[in-house]
Amino acid sequence: MTPNSPAAIGFRTELRQDGGHLTEPVFAARGSRATWQERAADLTLHAVLLHSGAPDEACARARGRTLVFAGELYNRDALHRLLPPGRALPGTDAALVSALFDVYDLHVFRLLNGRFAALVTESGRALLATDHVGSVPLYVRVAPGRVLAATEAKALRDAPPGRPVPARPVRRKTGTHQVPAGTVLDIEVATGKCVPHRTWAPPLARRILPEEEATDTVRRAVERAVRTRAGGSTPLVVLSGGIDSSAVAALAARRSAKPIDTVSMGTDAADEFPQARVVARHIGSAHREITVPIAELLRWLPHTVWAAECLDPDIVEYLLPLTALYLRIGGPGRRVLTGYGADIPLGGMHRENRLPRLDTAVCHDMDTFDGLNEMSPTLSAVGGHWTTHPYWDRDVLDVLVSLEAGLKRRHGQDKWVLRAAMSDVLPHEVVVRPKLGVHEGSGTSASFSRLLVDAGAPRERVREAKRLVVREVFDQVVVGGRHPDDVAIDSVVDAVLGAGVEPAT
Ligand code: ATP
Ligand code: MG
Ligand code: MG
Ligand code: MG
Repeated sequence: MTPNSPAAIGFRTELRQDGGHLTEPVFAARGSRATWQERAADLTLHAVLLHSGAPDEACARARGRTLVFAGELYNRDALHRLLPPGRALPGTDAALVSALFDVYDLHVFRLLNGRFAALVTESGRALLATDHVGSVPLYVRVAPGRVLAATEAKALRDAPPGRPVPARPVRRKTGTHQVPAGTVLDIEVATGKCVPHRTWAPPLARRILPEEEATDTVRRAVERAVRTRAGGSTPLVVLSGGIDSSAVAALAARRSAKPIDTVSMGTDAADEFPQARVVARHIGSAHREITVPIAELLRWLPHTVWAAECLDPDIVEYLLPLTALYLRIGGPGRRVLTGYGADIPLGGMHRENRLPRLDTAVCHDMDTFDGLNEMSPTLSAVGGHWTTHPYWDRDVLDVLVSLEAGLKRRHGQDKWVLRAAMSDVLPHEVVVRPKLGVHEGSGTSASFSRLLVDAGAPRERVREAKRLVVREVFDQVVVGGRHPDDVAIDSVVDAVLGAGVEPAT
């Protein structure tokens, strides 16, 4: 059974040939901390783990190897079948990955469908691995004799500069790099030599399927992704009443003996409450509505950037209302399912009828998602909750990306294949409801624009001003280590506008 939260949701690890080590790191994610050190060959591992009660379950030690695993797996049954016959099934995801490492070495990471970041260390090596889409961000600093890694860039703040590695540098954090999505970095600690291995890439070929086979395939894949994520206790679905989250909620409700929980957020400017209610009533969920006043919503922008460590203003606008929602859910930590990300492989947000352009948009978005941290569990972890996103399940994503564009846009509808796949579990009005982004339905984008215009930004420069505000917030809370409670969005806006809004360079 999947508990509400994985054994660990984050870590900072430090492998060193000499003895010293860093001070306690700062994380945005909330969680209990376990700190320990151990000696492996000529290396000392200093680890800080953000855990949910049983830190040992996030580690596996065997045959001189230590594995630290933040997150969870969604294809355990298939992985179990790879173990030597007669072997007792490992009781944790960390032990399962470690057991398979015996057989596959780093190629084990090509086998995993999960939401995780991991460190493996053995015989002078450090391996750092992300899941197929890097949904748990992982940062690294490498110097000869020393490898630092953490699930938040800010947790590496006080580390000395490292040398370049084949990965994306983090803005203004010399030597800190983000491990790419679907990658294992194999690092020789003594020299700092680092070799990247890709473990996943978005499919480029497109499948031609009859309508019914396409909808069946999508339905089966999403159903399995929801089932493996729903866990043993009642799941909570963040529900807008749009097709993506409504499908997740309906499938979760069908497999649950008890009513599931759903929650919708809105603001005093806009909400999708009536649309979400239609779904909640249909599936019989225990439904809650949370209204966040716009003035308060914008005050959570620094917390959103702090959690997501993201510089992209559009992404921050999507994530801001959700962060505010996660901070308001309250109570004990929940397992939260979202409908996030369905629009990327299906081209839903492009509102594009022309198939070549639709597929171009899908290719572009699948090429550029890495590093945006849209799926980061830290967004909900600031509120003490664990999120998981069925549409970015590895198998679901492989299916959705690879369908030919004419199955995505069909019969005058966007996301046709998903709508058709869910037509028997949702009311017709929900199935055909036009897409509305969370930043639109909550009035977030419009309110952020208004804040800037009211503060004196020229209308044609609002987009650029948003980019600069997000960058300034990033510099303060991620690079500078300020707590977001101490960053007032109004003064950031004033400072950015006072310095002048120049076009992007
Ligand atoms: P569609 O893309 O067709 O509008 P959707 O609303 O489910 O469907 P998005 O708008 O892309 O999807 O939003 C992404 C996800 O964020 C949703 O699937 C849902 O889980 C969550 N979400 C969006 N808006 C809200 C909201 N108002 N309240 C709660 N959760 C929301
Ligand atoms: Mg919505
Ligand atoms: Mg969507
Ligand atoms: Mg929506």
